[in-house]
Amino acid sequence: MARYTGPSCRLCRREGMKLYLKGERCYTDKCAISRRGNPPGQHGARRMKLSNYGLQLREKQKVKRYYGVLETQFRNYYSIAEKQPGITGENFLRILETRLDNVVYRLGFAASRKEARQLVRHGHFTVNGHKANIPSMLLKVGDIIALKEKSSKSSKFKELKEKSVTVPKWLEADVEKLEGKVVAMPVREDIDLPIEEHLIVELYSR
Ligand code: SF4
Repeated sequence: MARYTGPSCRLCRREGMKLYLKGERCYTDKCAISRRGNPPGQHGARRMKLSNYGLQLREKQKVKRYYGVLETQFRNYYSIAEKQPGITGENFLRILETRLDNVVYRLGFAASRKEARQLVRHGHFTVNGHKANIPSMLLKVGDIIALKEKSSKSSKFKELKEKSVTVPKWLEADVEKLEGKVVAMPVREDIDLPIEEHLIVELYSR
């Protein structure tokens, strides 16, 4: 399946919630969800009652789109989560949350996950001092994510030092050095995603 290249706001309207796909615009009143929240399409304004399957499918689509992950990889993460001890839904979200692109976004080095993915692919970051250009790389406790010295001189990243960003408590950011550290694995309360992950587990357990 090819990556979706259409309008990002359409995805939020389809899911009926802000997925924060466009960076700063998402926090302004230009956000399409604030302006007209109904689903896209000719019959978008109609309220449709969803079946159980429909609810499960929508929940899965929301998470996929939020993290920008394609179906095959999403399914693979689920298989890993299922084999881990603990609650599968929470394991699953933890895996998604510890992707390098998500961590770069959470540390405030990018305005959206999409931008974070692009910056990682362009080789602007290192993990524990080594080149890291794979957005799906999963991080663990103790990993240090840093901006390459050459990249930190560019005006884009220099501006970051003036910005104040609130990072989740499982991460630590050093704005001066433009680096961050994973200090713990995220737990469910750390993940501010208003979804019912058990519906995804039900969908994949069918
Ligand atoms: Fe979604 Fe952001 Fe577009 Fe709002 S502005 S609809 S949050 S992508």
